[in-house]
Amino acid sequence: MSHGFGLDHLPYGVVAHQGRDLVVVRLGDDVIDLAGLAASSAPPFDPAVLAGPGLAPLMAAGPGVWAVVRSWLQATLADSSASRIPLAEVEPRMPFAVADYVDFYASLNHASNVGKIFRPDAEPLLPNWRHLPVGYHGRAGTVVPSGTPVVRPQGQRRPGPDGRPAFGPSQALDIEAELGFVVGVPSTMGEPVPITALADHVFGVTLLNDWSARDIQAWEYVPLGPFLGKSFATSISPWITPLAALEDSRVPLPGQDPEPLDYLRVAEPAGYAIDLEVVINGSVVSRPPYASMYWSPAQMLAHMTVNGASLRTGDLYGSGTISGPERDQRGSLLELSWGGNEPFTLDDGSTRTYLQDGDTVTIRATAGTITLGEVEGTITPR
Ligand code: CA
Repeated sequence: MSHGFGLDHLPYGVVAHQGRDLVVVRLGDDVIDLAGLAASSAPPFDPAVLAGPGLAPLMAAGPGVWAVVRSWLQATLADSSASRIPLAEVEPRMPFAVADYVDFYASLNHASNVGKIFRPDAEPLLPNWRHLPVGYHGRAGTVVPSGTPVVRPQGQRRPGPDGRPAFGPSQALDIEAELGFVVGVPSTMGEPVPITALADHVFGVTLLNDWSARDIQAWEYVPLGPFLGKSFATSISPWITPLAALEDSRVPLPGQDPEPLDYLRVAEPAGYAIDLEVVINGSVVSRPPYASMYWSPAQMLAHMTVNGASLRTGDLYGSGTISGPERDQRGSLLELSWGGNEPFTLDDGSTRTYLQDGDTVTIRATAGTITLGEVEGTITPR
């Protein structure tokens, strides 16, 4: 059995198999057709939650049903007679339709590094950063599953000496290694989701690569934030790890100073001990630790709804770039190359600051005994 995909994991996904889309879990190097399994074994829940389209009905069913389905799967699949389909015979699909997509900026190390790179003579963190999880709304329609090629974006860049903006393919194409949180249970408009309610709404997590064109971003982002420098593509793993599979990986976050406002305050903000790897063309270039984040997933959820904005099934929110305190823990090339000024070397001897056409970026992660589904993409020229 492939390491990290045992009965303690069971990530959900949707795969194409013999002309049909199936709701499945991954077990080792196989998948199990859940509707087929339910049809042959009288499950203790309404099997309609497994009927599709995609994972949405299961995601919307809520934590009570999620727990029953997971226990049933663990008991049923412990008996190896369940029918399996080799992973090699299926094609993973987008597992759910992304409703709204929000991306945060929750790593103190990342935000500090970016501040130092872009504003070297000023305080790295802006005054709001330690009081609220900074975020922006991204483009749901361009969230794509792992393996989807990423066409190099084009756009405006900072003006040269003649004062006119440059235009063309991005010359500073970057990645951001992140964790994505997948919302299952909706909320009511006007009613904030409390800080204690993460597990009542969030179905699971996925690895996320927030592809970023730094040159387009640098020219456009003032004063309203990221726009076309981000919206051309965001890749996620097609395997959604249930929150329950990460229960043993919960850890307290490093600490928050000053104490946040009441709606963001808990006795001990919790994150997860998830260790990522960023790989370019087979070379590991960084190992970002999710446990080093400043803001917790529960705090991000509470903040994005505190104004009364409601959640929908399929909402996705990203952690923001995960960067640890060390140089080899930085989750973006912007930081690894310190603003494009310090090239780093791949295993084949070539150097990079930002991505070249043909480069393949893979983000992998483990959490204790489980391995998250990887997210990969290759840059194609414009
Ligand atoms: Ca991001």
